[in-house]
Amino acid sequence: MKLAPVRGKDSIHLGDSAASVSLHHDGSDALAEKTAKYTDRIGELQRVLYADGRFALLVVLQGRDASGKDGTVRKVFCAVNPQGCVVTSFKAPTELEKQHDFLWRVHVQVPPRGMIGVFNRSHYEDVLVPRVHKLIKKSDASARYAHINAFEEMLAANGVVILKFMLHVSRDEQKVRLQERLSDETKNWKFRADDLDDRKRWDAYTKAYRGVLEHTSTAHAPWYIVPADDKPTRDLLIARTIADAMEDMTLRYPPADPAVLALEIT
Ligand code: AMP
Ligand code: MG
Repeated sequence: MKLAPVRGKDSIHLGDSAASVSLHHDGSDALAEKTAKYTDRIGELQRVLYADGRFALLVVLQGRDASGKDGTVRKVFCAVNPQGCVVTSFKAPTELEKQHDFLWRVHVQVPPRGMIGVFNRSHYEDVLVPRVHKLIKKSDASARYAHINAFEEMLAANGVVILKFMLHVSRDEQKVRLQERLSDETKNWKFRADDLDDRKRWDAYTKAYRGVLEHTSTAHAPWYIVPADDKPTRDLLIARTIADAMEDMTLRYPPADPAVLALEIT
């Protein structure tokens, strides 16, 4: 199974059954083995990405609380040289950030050519959160979609390959994971009371995500909805999509200068 990019309303499935898709019929070991093949390949290709110097890769991770964004970063990029990858976690904007346009803090974190950048949450929070809390009107959200599409198009034209993943977790699985954060002392620190507030707004978030997915999945910056209840399935699907996209970049080591090759080392 491969993830397909979101293309229009009919390809957006955000019900519980879409979250619980599992690839375990092959057995867990087989699944982990396949994932390792792709994560290793991502590590190799990042090296070529850097040597090649023409492109950057930007991976955007969105999803509700406990949907597995942190785990995805840990699992999918495990074989990448830490020098070649920058992860940015976007929190609620600071006072200074709020005084600027919503893309100000985002643009500066876009990876330079040669690098992989991962956004753990992103500029999409600036449509989701204010829409759910009714801080902006529908027409304001539409304007933001247009700004985001233009911004991402500009990045793509400058060599940034963009892949966006919405980690889709079911209501029941989120409950299990939030409960774990309360009962497991090594996870207590992750629990925040306002996660429960967001959980109460489940349907409003679903609606807001639907809007984002419908209006901002483009040829140059596609969205993928990832079934995220089963973690090994999530990791395999994301790793494969990223590895395939990097293969498609036809990266190459730059040819050596003949004058350099003719040099003799004494
Ligand atoms: P976490 O990812 O669990 O560390 O939580 C980060 C929190 O910051 C989440 O509740 C996000 O919704 C919030 N956040 C991130 N970006 C924004 C934004 N642009 N506007 C409002 N809240 C945001
Ligand atoms: Mg929250």
